[in-house]
Amino acid sequence: MTIVTPSISPHADDEPALAVLRRHFGYEAFRGFQREVIGHVLAGGDAVVLMPTGGGKSLCYQIPSLLRPGVGVVVSPLIALMQDQVGALRQNGIRAAFVNSSLSGREVWQVINQARAGALDLLYMAPERIVLDSSLTLLDDIPVALFAIDEAHCVSQWGHDFRPDYLGLSVLAERFPDVPRIALTATADVPTRSEIVGRLRLERARMFVAGFDRPNIRYLVTPKENPRQQLKRFLESEHPGDAGIVYCLSRAKVEETAAWLVQHGWKALPYHAGLDSEVRRRNQQRFLFEDGVVVVATIAFGMGIDKPDVRFVAHLDLPKSLEAYYQETGRAGRDGLPANAFLTYGMEDVVLLRRLIESSEAEERFKRLEMRKLDALLGYCETTSCRRQVLRNHFGESAPTTCGNCDTCLSPVESWDGLVAAQKALSCVFRTGQKFGAVHLIDVLLGKQTERVLKFGHQQISTFGIGKELSSGQWRSVFRQLVAGGFLSVDVEGHGGLHLNENSRPVLRGEQPILFRNDPIPGTASRIKERKTDKRQERTRVAATPAESDLWEALRAMRMELAREQNVPPYVIFHDATLREIAEVMPTTQEELAEVHGVGSSKLKNYGERVLQVVAAHGA
Ligand code: ADP
Ligand code: ZN
Repeated sequence: MTIVTPSISPHADDEPALAVLRRHFGYEAFRGFQREVIGHVLAGGDAVVLMPTGGGKSLCYQIPSLLRPGVGVVVSPLIALMQDQVGALRQNGIRAAFVNSSLSGREVWQVINQARAGALDLLYMAPERIVLDSSLTLLDDIPVALFAIDEAHCVSQWGHDFRPDYLGLSVLAERFPDVPRIALTATADVPTRSEIVGRLRLERARMFVAGFDRPNIRYLVTPKENPRQQLKRFLESEHPGDAGIVYCLSRAKVEETAAWLVQHGWKALPYHAGLDSEVRRRNQQRFLFEDGVVVVATIAFGMGIDKPDVRFVAHLDLPKSLEAYYQETGRAGRDGLPANAFLTYGMEDVVLLRRLIESSEAEERFKRLEMRKLDALLGYCETTSCRRQVLRNHFGESAPTTCGNCDTCLSPVESWDGLVAAQKALSCVFRTGQKFGAVHLIDVLLGKQTERVLKFGHQQISTFGIGKELSSGQWRSVFRQLVAGGFLSVDVEGHGGLHLNENSRPVLRGEQPILFRNDPIPGTASRIKERKTDKRQERTRVAATPAESDLWEALRAMRMELAREQNVPPYVIFHDATLREIAEVMPTTQEELAEVHGVGSSKLKNYGERVLQVVAAHGA
């Protein structure tokens, strides 16, 4: 790629990478270690890049692809998204194309010929295609600037997104030893890192590990009472008109929840692997192309989605691990504006996940690993300290004890000495024969003469009615925390009956101190809400006066129109942050507009006139 001397760019700089950043992407400076990665790859080195979602991984291979001779070949697992990625690059005046199964043989040839002729900067390919002999032979003929392996954690067999085709990618190392390779992922844990290095033959690569904090995401975890109502309250108070993702564990629940949200006036769409591929494609497109769509999905949704303005991610069921949780919540707020991660969970989730792990066909070693992951997740849910600290520590980072932007920091959780309550609960489990679930055990503790209690004669045992000092809600919390803390086991084969285990004994003997978190009662949660609304208004409201907000609306309408004309999602034209800045500074000349974050020379050329017209018409 040759760099044309900029005629309109107000910035001149000697450093080629910085010049490309400014000219093509309209950004002022590199973020984090982007500059270091780019420099390393430009010099021909291999790299492994670990950065949180939204950290700016793409530029790490896009810019070297533009500056090195030849085409940058990007391996990306999601065919459905290649088109969007390529569309976004073209908006920035970058010559990009993709090759996947949606193209005809002739179209593939056209792309390959372009690459041969040096008319392409970036070429996206699916992993199953690139490893074919025929593709490798084609690549022999094309000057390749670099190979970028996106979502590199897909190579990990123990991970949550394993794709067998990724294992074949080691062939690139053997076949193209002189071409630099760069693997990128947002999955941070150490075992995944070493799998990426080993399986992709990146032993000589330099490892770049970014801080994993996402300061603009607010973490909220709340015990499950009535999950749909909780979700509805959350959406109404925090996210009217916002785009977001709601995760559920099962397909049936996805469908039900989406339908229920629609009934209540939300623009909600289901997404799961059981849906027809055309329906899935359409729903994903609407999420990307329209404003304010809520997708209700199983975890099959979201990987590789680059939508920057996802304002919330809500989990109605526990994710599989903290890694999965972090990656899924990381899809919120890529644009750096405030976003929420909301999770509700209860003991039934723990039972369900334990059962799923137990009943899977996997090896014992794998099951044990999964159980440990679940325990780490439960530790996060039950913590009384800062959630961000727990997360960052889990990923091997040190972190301050408070972040000021999670529920436990915003309204500190009290803990209470739960030894006596725990002993009562455990002895009740024992006295009733270690086969009943929490609901029945609570009835016994509260001294309720239910049909079941009478049927089993439990009104006569010594723990009958010894727990009247707590409410049934408090007992539910006690049982949940005992299970989460590993002091009680769940019968995963049967109906969720509870039984004692080796950790129960020290508690019963009074040798094990027990601290329970005091689950916030509904009224106290509103305290967070109030503060939060203040903050959101102050940070995200664009304009105070009607004239300015007119301008904002007019800019959004213009963006939607442009997006329709170009058949790309609105954020590919301009991010919210860019429109906001335009509404604020109200540029009157091309030069002023070029100064705005996210306006590169290509966008300036294509849309500059229209933006300036809108500002002139509505900005007065
Ligand atoms: P990732 O792939 O790491 O999740 P992306 O590469 O999609 O993240 O980048 C996230 C967002 O940040 C994108 O909208 C991108 O344009 C923006 N971005 C990346 N680098 C910079 C930078 N140096 N300055 C400003 N914005 C940036
Ligand atoms: Zn915190």
